[in-house]
Amino acid sequence: MFSSKESFQKAFLKKLEMTYGKSFSESTVRDQYHTLGNMVREYISSNWIATNERNRNSNTKQVYYLSIEFLLGRLLGQNLLNLGIRDVVEQGLGELGISIEDMEEVEADAGLGNGGLGRLAACFLDSLASTNLPGHGFGIRYKHGLFEQKIVDGFQVELPEQWLRHENSWEVRKSDQAVEVGFWGEIESYCERGRLQFRHIDGETITAVPYDIPIIGFSNETVNTLRLWNAEPSSFPIYKDVMEYKRETEAVSEFLYPDDTHDDGKILRLKQQYFLVSASLQNIVNSHRKTYGTLLNFHEKVAIQINDTHPVLAIPELMRILLDEEKIGWDEAWSITTQTISYTNHTTLSEALEKWPVHIFKPLLPRIFMIIEEVNERYCKELWERYPGDWTKIEHMAIIAHGLVKMAHLAIVGSYQVNGVAKIHTEILKEREMKDFYEVYPEKFSNKTNGITHRRWLLKANSQLSSLISETIGDEWVQHPQLLSRLNEYAYDNSFKERLEYVKKEKKLALAQIIKEKNGIVIDEHSIFDVHVKRLHAYKRQLLNVLHIMYLYNRLKEDSNFSIHPRTFIFGAKASPGYYYAKKVIKLINSLADKVNNDPQTSHLLKVIFLENYRVSLAEKVFPAADVSEQISTASKEASGTGNMKFMMNGALTVGTLDGANVEICEEIGEHNMFLFGLKAEEVLHYNRNGGYRSYDYYHHDKRIKQVMEQLINGFFPHSYDSFEPIYDSLLMQNDEYYVLRDFASYVMAHEQINEAYQNKPKWFEMSTINIAQSGYFSSDRTIKEYADHIWNIKPTNRVQHS
Ligand SMILES: *Cc1c(COP(=O)(O)O)cnc(C)c1O
Repeated sequence: MFSSKESFQKAFLKKLEMTYGKSFSESTVRDQYHTLGNMVREYISSNWIATNERNRNSNTKQVYYLSIEFLLGRLLGQNLLNLGIRDVVEQGLGELGISIEDMEEVEADAGLGNGGLGRLAACFLDSLASTNLPGHGFGIRYKHGLFEQKIVDGFQVELPEQWLRHENSWEVRKSDQAVEVGFWGEIESYCERGRLQFRHIDGETITAVPYDIPIIGFSNETVNTLRLWNAEPSSFPIYKDVMEYKRETEAVSEFLYPDDTHDDGKILRLKQQYFLVSASLQNIVNSHRKTYGTLLNFHEKVAIQINDTHPVLAIPELMRILLDEEKIGWDEAWSITTQTISYTNHTTLSEALEKWPVHIFKPLLPRIFMIIEEVNERYCKELWERYPGDWTKIEHMAIIAHGLVKMAHLAIVGSYQVNGVAKIHTEILKEREMKDFYEVYPEKFSNKTNGITHRRWLLKANSQLSSLISETIGDEWVQHPQLLSRLNEYAYDNSFKERLEYVKKEKKLALAQIIKEKNGIVIDEHSIFDVHVKRLHAYKRQLLNVLHIMYLYNRLKEDSNFSIHPRTFIFGAKASPGYYYAKKVIKLINSLADKVNNDPQTSHLLKVIFLENYRVSLAEKVFPAADVSEQISTASKEASGTGNMKFMMNGALTVGTLDGANVEICEEIGEHNMFLFGLKAEEVLHYNRNGGYRSYDYYHHDKRIKQVMEQLINGFFPHSYDSFEPIYDSLLMQNDEYYVLRDFASYVMAHEQINEAYQNKPKWFEMSTINIAQSGYFSSDRTIKEYADHIWNIKPTNRVQHS
C-alpha cells in the first residue's frame, strides 16, 4: 500500500471511508491523521510479529530498559521516515490537497517525561531498533503526561496534559498479558521441604495491563516494543469501598510526577515505581520461563538496565521471584540478580538522590522490604570484614540507615555495572559522590557518554540541512553518523558555507513565524538567535542569562557608543509546579521580555522571547534555528546534558561551562570552536568544600552586577515591585549557591566574543560546519553500542531470515 503514491492514495481513501464512514471531503485532518496512523501500524504489524518471533526463537539475549519516563514526542513523522515511505505519503497526500506537516501537527506529543532523562530513554529505543538490537522499553502509561504550560501575565500556569483524549493509533492493548501487582498486607512464613518460605497475604492487588507501542528501526525490518503498563482494578477487597478502590488503583498510572530533581516523598510515587518494576519483571520472567523452562540461566539471556534509581526495586523484585516463586536459594538468587541488572546514574545533586522513609516503605511493600533488609545485612557484614570497626563508614554506606532506604546504595550493591553519563560526571561519581563504593567495587564503574538519535534531531528535524549534507558528502552518514566528519574539509569552502547559512536562515524564518503566531512579536531573522531551552532549574542558571541581558539593555540605554549585532534571546522552560524559585525566574524572564521588547530605543537590537510549553515537538523547531546554544550550568552540576548535542548537530555554537558533555564537545571540536567561560568543576568543588566564596564581594566590586541586582527590587520592572526579592536574596543573603555572580564577568566576555565572531560570517560558518562535522560521536547509536558491548554483552541480530 506504500509502494507508489497511487496505491497509497487508493488505500488511504478506502481506509478513511471504512473507518469513519465519511467521504474524503467530509473528513477532518484528525480523521485523516488517524487513518494514516492506523495504516502505518498495520503496515508494520508483520515485521513486528516477525521481530518478536525472532527474539523468542533465536535464544539470543534480550535487553530491557526500565524507565519511569519516556519522552517520545510525536511518532507519525519519525515512523514514516524510518520506514522510508515519507516521500510517497507526502506526494500522495499532496495531490489530495493535504499537507503532511498539518497532519503531523494534529498528533499530541507523548510527553511521558520531564526532560533529558526521559528523552534519553526515547533516543535509546530508536537506536536499539535502528541498529538491530533486541532491546525493549518498559514504562508506565500515564494518563496525563507532563503538564501543559500556559503563560498568563508572565506567570506559569499548569494544565493537565491530555495526550489520550483522542484515540492513540500507536498503541495496542494486550489484555491477555496482564499481571497482578501486590501491595500492603502481611508476610506469612511457612516451612516447605525443610526450608523457610514466605508468602504475601491479605494484600491489595492492582492489575497491570500492557499497552505496546512499536519502535520501528530505520531502514531495517526490526520493530521492537515499548510496553507501557496501565493500572486497573482487580479483585475487589470486600472491606473497601469499590469506588474508592477503583480511584486509588487508577491513580497509579494517572500522572507523571512533574519533577526530575527533587525526591518529593510521595507514597504514590513509590507505588508507581513498584508497579512498573513488578509488572515488567513478572512479564520478563514469564516469557523467559516459556522459552527455557528455568530461571537458572536468566542472567545469560536477559539484561535489565535501570534508568536512574526509580526502577531500582527491580533488584529485590527479581530476588522475590527467584526466592519465593522459584524457590531458589539466596546465594544463587543473588548471583543471578547481580549479573542481570545494571544501573545508570543521572545526577550528583544530593537532593535528587532517592531516599524512602522506612515507615512508608515497609507497610506498602512488606516482602520487598524484608528482602532489602536481608541484602543490607549481608552487605554490611562484608563491609565489616573489609573495614573492621569503621562504623562511621559502614553506616554511611548502608542501604538502610536512620530510618531511610537509600535507593542509590541498593542500586550499586545489586547491579553488576554502574555508569555515569559523561566523562566528567563519571569522574565526579568515582572521586567524590560515590567514592566509598568505587573503592569497594572499582570494576563496576564505567562511563557511557549520552547521545541523541540523529534520525530525529537532524534527519527529521532538519531535512534541509540533512539534504545539504548528503549532497555534499553523500548519504552514508545516515547509517554511520561518525562519517559526518567528512564535512570538516568543507569548513573552508565558501560555497558550502553560503548554502549552510541559507539553510540556517530558512529555519530561523520558520521559527520567527511560530513566534509571531504564538507571542505576537516580530523578530529579525538577521539577529543572532541565542537559545536557552531546558527544564528550569537553579543549577542550569537561566538567571545568569537574564542578568546578562539586563546588563546589555542597561549598556544600550546608557552608553551611546555601545552597539551590538541584533540579538534575540529565546527561552523555553517548564518549572516544576512546587518549585517556587524556578517559577520566579519564569516570571522574571517574561517581565524582562515586556520591558525590552517594548522599548523603542533598543528593541531593534534586543528582543527576549519566552516560548510557552517547551516539549519535544517544539524542540524540533527550535534547535535547527539556533545560532547560539546556552549550556551554562554551574560546573559539576549537569551530569551530561543532551540539548547541547542537539544544538551542535544543527550547527549552533555553544556558549558554555566545562560541565557534563560540554567537555566531550570541546574535545571533539577544540575550544576555539566554542565559547567557554566560568569556573571549572574543580574550582566549584573546592569552593563547596572549603568555602571562600562571598557573593557580596562580586556585588560590591562589579558595578554592572550591582546595577542589575538593584533593578530586581527597585521598581525597574513595573507592576512586580517586590516579586523578585527572593531571587535577590538567593544571590546575596544566601551567598549565591550556584555561583551566578562569580561567573558573570566571564560570561559577559564570552558574549562579547560571540558578538564579534558573528561579524565574520565565513569564520562563523566555518565553526558551525566543524560543529556539525564533529557531532557524529554524539549519536545515541554510538552510546548504545557501548552499552551493548560493555554492559549487556549483546550483538545485533541479523535481519529477518527469508527462507
Ligand atoms: C533534549 C531535551 C531535554 C534535555 O535538555 P538539556 O538541555 O540536556 O537539559 C529536555 N526537554 C526536551 C523536550 C528535550 O528535547
